[in-house]
Amino acid sequence: MQSPVYQFCPHCAAPLLPAMIGGRERRRCPRCGFVFWGKSTVGAGGVLTRGDRVLLVRRAIEPGKGRWAIPGGFVEENERAEEAAAREMLEETGLSAEAVSLLAVRDRPGDGSQPHDIYLVFLLAYRHGVLRPQPEEVSAAGFFCPEECTRMNVAPLSLAMMRLALAGPTPGFQAASGIDLLSPAARLYY
Ligand SMILES: [Zn+2]
Repeated sequence: MQSPVYQFCPHCAAPLLPAMIGGRERRRCPRCGFVFWGKSTVGAGGVLTRGDRVLLVRRAIEPGKGRWAIPGGFVEENERAEEAAAREMLEETGLSAEAVSLLAVRDRPGDGSQPHDIYLVFLLAYRHGVLRPQPEEVSAAGFFCPEECTRMNVAPLSLAMMRLALAGPTPGFQAASGIDLLSPAARLYY
């Protein structure tokens, strides 16, 4: 199932027309050539460990108000996903951290009410700062071990990432270097 398509071009406001592109009927602007490929969003989350514990925040807003999760949020169009993970960590907790590896990718196709959503989870390393939850988005924050989480309302993905991060030495994909990715800002993880 696909989310509702645009009726008008978001660039020039001309009515979009159906067009067969790549074996599928899409909407194309007859004036400027814009093609509606469907909606996607990218999110990023960060796992920060301290000993055998992982930092979790309790969400103060919907969706998932009251639920504990790793800090995270949407990736801006002009930033790397790992930068977004570090930015969200800083905004939500006051802690400065840096990506070490890419732990996981959650790929969730659109279901008609929500766009296709890709969520990248990074393992972060602490740099500096004091834990100071940002009250607008976060009602509590702290470092917890998986056993303590059995008595808490923790998002399943966050719990899985917690276990993965604590499982062994630097899990996940590392950022590669020396490969031309056609953009100086691009990163490849493997
Ligand atoms: Zn147009």
